[in-house]
Amino acid sequence: MLADVLIDNADLVATCAGPGPRRGSAQREIGAIPNGSVAGFEGQIVFVGSAHDATAAVSLTPNAQVIDAEGCTVVPGFVDPHTHLIFAGDRRDELRRRLAGASYADIAASGGGIVKTVDATRFASEHELIDGARKRLAEMLTFGTTTAEAKSGYGLGLASEQKQLRAIRTVAVAQPIELTATFMGAHEVPVEFRGRRHDYVKEIIDVMIPAIAAEQLAEWCDVFCEQGVFTPDESRDILEAGARHGLKPRIHADELALSGGSRVAAEVGARSADHLIYVDELHARLLADKNVVATLLPSAAFFLKLGRYAPARMLIDQGTAVALATDLNPGGGFTTSMPFVMSLACFGMNMTLEEALNGATINAAASIDRQDTIGSLEAGKQLDAVIVSGTLTDLIRVGGPVIRQVLKRGRVAHAKLGSDPEI
Ligand SMILES: [Zn+2]
Repeated sequence: MLADVLIDNADLVATCAGPGPRRGSAQREIGAIPNGSVAGFEGQIVFVGSAHDATAAVSLTPNAQVIDAEGCTVVPGFVDPHTHLIFAGDRRDELRRRLAGASYADIAASGGGIVKTVDATRFASEHELIDGARKRLAEMLTFGTTTAEAKSGYGLGLASEQKQLRAIRTVAVAQPIELTATFMGAHEVPVEFRGRRHDYVKEIIDVMIPAIAAEQLAEWCDVFCEQGVFTPDESRDILEAGARHGLKPRIHADELALSGGSRVAAEVGARSADHLIYVDELHARLLADKNVVATLLPSAAFFLKLGRYAPARMLIDQGTAVALATDLNPGGGFTTSMPFVMSLACFGMNMTLEEALNGATINAAASIDRQDTIGSLEAGKQLDAVIVSGTLTDLIRVGGPVIRQVLKRGRVAHAKLGSDPEI
């Protein structure tokens, strides 16, 4: 078959081939091909197999790009299925306060936390939001992310939520990372609605969701279901209203306590339940039964110093598909790096490296309903790939500049300085 790009002769190609999501013991299988090659044509994969077979199977176009991947490992482009990419303002001081012993609640009580970002985001222009997001996306790309989810949720009012979602739409076509947008008006009850939270829930359901759906600004609807934020009943009402308008449900669940989020996820048929630090076996089984992906964010637990991680091993043992995400945000989400999240998954949540890799690729793609087009290296899918210098294990070497090249739709979208003189 004809190819216009060939990643040739890699020490190992980890295909993470579907069907996705991978669950139970299947989450450990990465479809490893030693001495492998991947070829693409017009952005799609046309061949994955041994380098020897590639020679016979692939004919290159005259201008084809050939990438010698000897000494390298090739994995699918990472999918980051939970980010708060769009925000204004700066809360790095809160990280310093946490290091000095302040808790999330202490910081929120003194005007920090989500509310502070809401003030800054409401005040910012759409252009400023785009500018900030573009810088974060450029950094994500260097860490191998080729697709990401991005939420609103720092506007907490129709106009400012629309502004965030329009910024996502604009920045999605202005750089290589593909984005899917989530409306998250239910991230927090805004200050002006404190004491009459029922009115805010009604505003989300009657005003915001219909307007955002009509403008086709989002694919997903998300709710922070937690004690002190939105109750399970409110969360269910909001997600069901979203679904009636074509916004698919996903949810922040059981992050600070077993507060009902995973149950709501199962009830409304959410594609993903995220965080799950306090989920128990009963609810893990419920998620598995309803095909809800468990999207875990160990970097949030790490930077918030929560003292515990989601029970990834238990979730996998109960047959729940586990995905990983950064939770990039101005407070606790202090990283853009999926490889760092994989390191935490391995060393904090006791996942194997293979489970973590599937969690960052095929299962993360399933978390955003893209398992048929991305998340693995298979003929017919988009050619989104990461070329790692060294072995698969080198990928989780924190701080090691091991990502040599990142391909999005068959084109080199990022190359480490010195690795490719043509870029
Ligand atoms: Zn979040």
